[in-house]
Amino acid sequence: MQRGRIVCRMKATKMLRSLYALLTLFLVCCATSLFVQTSYAQTPPAQTSAAPAAPEPQLSTQAAATQPATAAAGSFDQVVDRAIEREHFFMAQMKQLHPLVETYLQNLKKDKELDTPVPASDVYFLGRLDMSEGTDDRAFTSPTTAGLGKRMLSKLSNVYSMKFLPLGFAQMVVLDEDFQRRYYDFTFVRREFLGEVRCIVMDVAPKKDAGKGRFLGRVWIEDQDYNIVRFNGTYYPHPRASYYLHFDSWRANLRPGGVWLPSLIYSEESDLKYRLGQTLNYKAQTRLWGYNLKDLRRNSEFTEITVDAPQTVHDQSQKAQDASPIEAQRQWERQAELNVIDRLQQIGLLAPEGEIDKVLSTVVNNMMVTNNIDIQPEIHCRVLMTTPLESFTIGHTIVVSRGMIDVLPDEASLAMILTHELSHIVLGHHLNTKLAFNDRMFFPDERTFERMDFARDRGEEEAADKKAIELLNNSPYKDKLGTAGLFLKAVQARAPALKNLIRGHLGDSLLNGDATRMSSLMTSSPQFDPKKTDQVAALPLGGRVKIDPWNNQLELIKTKPVAITSAAEKMPFEVTPFFPFLTRLGSGASEKAAPVPEKTAAAPTGQ
Ligand SMILES: [Zn+2]
Repeated sequence: MQRGRIVCRMKATKMLRSLYALLTLFLVCCATSLFVQTSYAQTPPAQTSAAPAAPEPQLSTQAAATQPATAAAGSFDQVVDRAIEREHFFMAQMKQLHPLVETYLQNLKKDKELDTPVPASDVYFLGRLDMSEGTDDRAFTSPTTAGLGKRMLSKLSNVYSMKFLPLGFAQMVVLDEDFQRRYYDFTFVRREFLGEVRCIVMDVAPKKDAGKGRFLGRVWIEDQDYNIVRFNGTYYPHPRASYYLHFDSWRANLRPGGVWLPSLIYSEESDLKYRLGQTLNYKAQTRLWGYNLKDLRRNSEFTEITVDAPQTVHDQSQKAQDASPIEAQRQWERQAELNVIDRLQQIGLLAPEGEIDKVLSTVVNNMMVTNNIDIQPEIHCRVLMTTPLESFTIGHTIVVSRGMIDVLPDEASLAMILTHELSHIVLGHHLNTKLAFNDRMFFPDERTFERMDFARDRGEEEAADKKAIELLNNSPYKDKLGTAGLFLKAVQARAPALKNLIRGHLGDSLLNGDATRMSSLMTSSPQFDPKKTDQVAALPLGGRVKIDPWNNQLELIKTKPVAITSAAEKMPFEVTPFFPFLTRLGSGASEKAAPVPEKTAAAPTGQ
């Protein structure tokens, strides 16, 4: 594990006196300087009872039933009141939920040849959101660098490093933790559909003397239960020597009864001058998921989570005898595999089985059939929920990250990734069977990256590469490997700037030291040219896989390919803004409920 995976870690709770504690994995690679703080700095007056009218925070239809949807708000003022009331309910709900929060940020620098900003460095955070009070800081981290990282970070920030607080990005899920009418002016803008959801759009500005760090910007309120479903702006005014970033925060209707929860946040600054001659230029995506991890909610201490691997309990009735030594060895390995997979799924890092697994399995089957490979037990494919590009095997399960699936340009390049992993299985590269002992699974989830490591040594990597080329050359993909090689060239070109994206957390990166995986494919591929609009070597992040933040189910996004008009639109490996198509759960029956009367729409301003 001494691979320098984690450069820095910070203790969020220590940094801010706030209700929030974001459990962080802080991976830093910042080029510019200064402290950018994006969270509320004011001490909210009487914040403990900020939600007077909020019903008991249950995620059920009951909660919404206390506010009958049929009673439509009759005026703009009433819409404002209802929205504020719902926001208090929302805050109460969020205190009980502990979703995973992932932020991936790219610092940008103008590329002279392309005449467009491109990533120069990147930052990655992964943690669990905890908005209840008095929480420990529990991070997905590695012990080797934890203490060191913190020291290093504080030193750097004083001198020349710019520091993004992960907590700051997490806080963008909340408009104002003490959202009160008396602090704000509200101005009606228009009505507008976001996806299929009709919304009342209004501008919200803090009144004078409302305190620091109030929300300033635009909100979209759905016109049935009056939940805020999107807000776009910043916090204002900022305290001395720190800055609030701009953001566009989206919620999704995740439960019946009008429960809308944070799902996606885009943040960007292109011209924030924070020090003489220094400009902040970055873009960042934050994703939330894992709201419904029942086992974690039941046991909020995150300790001693039992993994009982029910699949390993085989029906022994047809074969009333002991396993042979070889069978016993296989079963032992299988048990380790199932333990790990259960655990990763339980803590929200591995998606439950779903449609994308089948797509991946189809490609693996193509490879096996054309190469006459028969492997028992059957090979399965699963998707890791996170963005960094990695893949690995756990026994006979091939795991590919969501970010990897997003950026791969075509099926042949997907086949390249999967075939490398298939080769590990074919060559009999084993999983460490220490994980077959169930007690090895009794560790708090934030230590996952420390306890689970599926990275291979160089020898096994090279052997798998060699085997994979052999298998690919005997497959339906053999004439289409040009794009796969091109993808690897793009990886190589962007790797120095994207150290936190092009790396492995649990498994292997596409880079093995200085070497690129499957590098022999690069020799036969076309010249990599970022300026050519018809050459797509790698896609932007977020274009293929859609997350259901409630149950972690993944689905493939079905969008028509968009013609690229300039090289700047190619954005390989880059983050982009979000524009999700909002829908209501169980929509149809709800359509006629609570339309906003025309006079509301015509109301010109708030007060
Ligand atoms: Zn490998």
